[in-house]
Amino acid sequence: MSLFQVEGLVKRFGALLATDHVNLGVDAGEIHALIGPNGAGKSTLVNLISGLFAADAGRVLLDGQDLTRLPMHDRVRAGLSRCFQITSIFREATVRDNLLLAAQAHAGSSFGMLRDRRHERPLADTAQALAERVGLAAEQHRVAGTLPHGAQRKLDVALALAANPKLLLLDEPMAGMGPEDSERMTELIHTLKRDMAILLIEHDMKAVFALADRISVLVYGKVLVSGSVEAIRGNPQVQAVYLGT
Ligand code: ADP
Ligand code: MG
Repeated sequence: MSLFQVEGLVKRFGALLATDHVNLGVDAGEIHALIGPNGAGKSTLVNLISGLFAADAGRVLLDGQDLTRLPMHDRVRAGLSRCFQITSIFREATVRDNLLLAAQAHAGSSFGMLRDRRHERPLADTAQALAERVGLAAEQHRVAGTLPHGAQRKLDVALALAANPKLLLLDEPMAGMGPEDSERMTELIHTLKRDMAILLIEHDMKAVFALADRISVLVYGKVLVSGSVEAIRGNPQVQAVYLGT
């Protein structure tokens, strides 16, 4: 059985079946990429998995635990963390304060603990480790909103990592990036694979082909086909509906 599984997941928006009985698994140590045209239902699926949307039917399972009815914060506690496309960053705060806040949020601490100086060190260590992990150690005193786009995306990843996830959900981490930043983000995601499983939604096919152990193609809310990079690249159906070649 996979580390992570989605079974028969359904989401309707009025008459639109945005998620049509989706089955999907991510194994431990695997990067499973989800691709598909705009409006295919990729973000909806991420929102169902993270708990932002309630599913109309189906189940979300992580490490044997049924997360389907849990609110978002309990899913995070269970080991499921997502990137929020920069919106989770406090733009007026420094990189370091963003990381300290994230570290504190996941330390199971109370306000009492914040006042207790004995606990400052571990949080600071965690913030430092997160900054180093994503390559922002030298930028820690900069105000987050003034960072270049690529660095803001890295900070967003660092905030998701603060929860120490078993499964990381990445919804278009390369969006809006030039080739150089995409390359760096690809390297970063590759290093994360050592410690967590990843569900990667991405349009940048160079990144997908470089990173994915498995690719699933979503079309009209349904998984059209799943397979290795080679299988997906060579699939004429995929080429017709998605790659446009
Ligand atoms: P993708 O991320 O693959 O581009 P989305 O999951 O954003 O696709 O959208 C899938 C479909 O669901 C689209 O037709 C979109 O218009 C619709 N949709 C997404 N979110 C909502 C919502 N909150 N309310 C109504 N329709 C939505
Ligand atoms: Mg989307």
